[in-house]
Amino acid sequence: MARILDGKALASQVRQNLKERVAEGIQVGLPQPGLATVLVGDDPASHVYVKFKRRACDEVGFQNFHIELPADTTQGELLSKIDELNTNPEVHGILVQLPLPKGLDEAAVLQAVSPLKDADGFHPMNQGALMQGKQSLRPCTPLGIMSLIEASGVDLNGKKAVVVGRSNIVGKPIALMLLEKHATVSICHSRTADLAAEVRAADVLIAAVGRAHLVQGQWIKEGAVVIDVGINRLEDGSLTGDVDFEKASERASWITPVPGGVGPMTIAMLLSNTLDAAWGNK
Ligand code: NDP
Repeated sequence: MARILDGKALASQVRQNLKERVAEGIQVGLPQPGLATVLVGDDPASHVYVKFKRRACDEVGFQNFHIELPADTTQGELLSKIDELNTNPEVHGILVQLPLPKGLDEAAVLQAVSPLKDADGFHPMNQGALMQGKQSLRPCTPLGIMSLIEASGVDLNGKKAVVVGRSNIVGKPIALMLLEKHATVSICHSRTADLAAEVRAADVLIAAVGRAHLVQGQWIKEGAVVIDVGINRLEDGSLTGDVDFEKASERASWITPVPGGVGPMTIAMLLSNTLDAAWGNK
């Protein structure tokens, strides 16, 4: 039976550690880290995510600058808000909640955020730095996944890792981070010929698709580490992952629950990136 990789507990430890560092840093004269959250439109899930992020900011002692704009905001208006945040010295991290309403050019907006304040790690310069294995602000969900794997104590060196999903925010960056730790990585997607066969070979599986229980329990290799990134809402309103948790738990050595796995770690890493943006290596 798999052991649970408890993202909620680990994220709470990370936040506690950040809170202590912030209090100590401020005492020796470092600036209070500031995160700006930018929310455009009225997507209910986005409102909930931003609320959690703002609450986490308060908890660790960051300043939060919150900007809420209507769904009919123009590209120009949004870019000018981002420009203001880019030049505000009290703002060290900027998060633009995705998805943006139709009509706004997401790529152009992400590129407008200063790479030095790119708390989400989505700017092309930071993504390029990651590809080259350089120090940069890295995407939060993959950072959270790597912390969870580290917490399991499993050494990635020489392991076969399979990533299902190839988005710029999860699939591709986590594949690069696993590679950096010397795993042998396969990336699967909607055109992968035999997903079951790929998953069966995985010592470490990252499922980041957004389809409830796409990954069947019997596909999981005995002893595999299973990280379920997917967040899918069922008809009864409950949340579930991309992996059939019950069946997969009978075969995996470690598994993340949904909710309570990757999600809380994503927010913790957002805070950690903001602290790095504010203080560098101080
Ligand atoms: P995207 O929709 O951007 O990407 C989904 C990926 O899944 C695509 O690469 C797609 O392939 C692939 N895919 C779709 N269907 C299949 C299939 N049948 N077999 C194999 N691959 C398939 O999603 P994101 O990466 O943004 O998010 C993935 C999931 O993770 C979502 O549920 C999202 O809510 C969740 N998420 C959770 C976070 C957290 O903090 N816990 C943070 C970010 C995301 P193709 O490229 O060929 O279309």
